[in-house]
Amino acid sequence: MNYENLKKEDQAIFDIIEQEKERQINEIELIASENYVSKSVLEAMGSVLTNKYSEGYPGHRYYGGNQMIDKAENVAIERAKQLFDAEHVNVQPLSGSPANAAVYFAFLKPGDKVMGLKLDHGGHLSHGHPVNFSGMLYDFVQYEVDSKTGKIDMEEVRKVALKEKPKMIVAGYSAYSREIEWDKFKEIADEIGAYTFADIAHTAGLIAAKKMNNPVPFFDVVSTTTHKTLRGPRGAMIMCKEKFAKQVDRAVFPGMQGGPHDHINAAKAVAFGEALRPEFIEYGEQVIKNAQTMADEFEAKDYRVISNGTDNHLLVVDMTSKEIDGKTAEIALEKCGISVSRSTIPNDPNPPMKPSGVRFGTPAVTTRGMKEAEIKKIVEWIDKAIKNRNNEKTLKEIKNEVKEFSKDFPIPSA
Ligand SMILES: *Cc1c(COP(=O)(O)O)cnc(C)c1O
Repeated sequence: MNYENLKKEDQAIFDIIEQEKERQINEIELIASENYVSKSVLEAMGSVLTNKYSEGYPGHRYYGGNQMIDKAENVAIERAKQLFDAEHVNVQPLSGSPANAAVYFAFLKPGDKVMGLKLDHGGHLSHGHPVNFSGMLYDFVQYEVDSKTGKIDMEEVRKVALKEKPKMIVAGYSAYSREIEWDKFKEIADEIGAYTFADIAHTAGLIAAKKMNNPVPFFDVVSTTTHKTLRGPRGAMIMCKEKFAKQVDRAVFPGMQGGPHDHINAAKAVAFGEALRPEFIEYGEQVIKNAQTMADEFEAKDYRVISNGTDNHLLVVDMTSKEIDGKTAEIALEKCGISVSRSTIPNDPNPPMKPSGVRFGTPAVTTRGMKEAEIKKIVEWIDKAIKNRNNEKTLKEIKNEVKEFSKDFPIPSA
């Protein structure tokens, strides 16, 4: 993008954007929830559509002048339906957490019982954590991953579900690296008459690329962010069975939100269009190959990978296997120009601000065109940085090498 006017009119913000662009170009992004959008997505986000108010839905707006906005929103909806085989789509949710709030609002009353995965086992704040609205408004009971395998044990899920009889079961996670048995969740929910809610915020792009199982055709309701593996603008959407369309739409607007962000929704349409192309299938495949290579490389260097590997774009590594905690590792890697996020591990003995693990993800580096050979190089640097975490000189050297290496892998939108 060309920021000529910004440069003239607001040097302060222009400079910050330029510096952030440089940071993105010179550093390696391994945060599992991040990605780089295309130039087309960025252009749609930066368009005049941001000037419009369009409360309501296509054909039924509370403001005039929405002919073009209606078309854009309908394109987004149609492409999302095609991508995920969805009966009904609402593209207006502003982000993942507000989308989840709308889902609960559409299906539950405050105080209703809901079942979700525990946060420190890979769940999300909006799946019932006590500091989050979800944990405050609803009576959440939590299931856990198996302490030996690090995987979700469907027998355990069934046991908790039959005992607690929640009104809704939530599946789909933020720090879980394995395929999810959606069909078994559906069977269990049917046994107790619970709603099925899948939050595919992290894996939506891999599902769209047909590389992971898709819950949309048989779950009652599914939410996703659009900015993670799906590689669109920062935002979200909700997909559901036709019979729940009205209550979901009403929960989003007027229930939770006011006017939709039309520039973002147009950018969602652009991203969905990109995800429908054959190149995106190759992208999804490479994301997973890269994550599996990364897991293998860590294991070869005696790091403990939770669940011993990955089926998707991310892995959680127990850093205490190298006598370091996740936060200290995150800081050492930041000094080398490698961004990661510290993470809890299942049954973490350490506190959340200084947890035992680090979560690594490959969506962003794969967008830059990195493949297995580059992943191996990156793990070499990570291992070297962990071993030399107290040696500022070595960390600086790695940072320079990372910068030189990154030059060959341009960021589409920078
Ligand atoms: C990222 C994420 C969200 C929240 O998305 P925001 O856009 O950050 O609000 C919700 N659920 C899951 C599982 C996530 O990973």
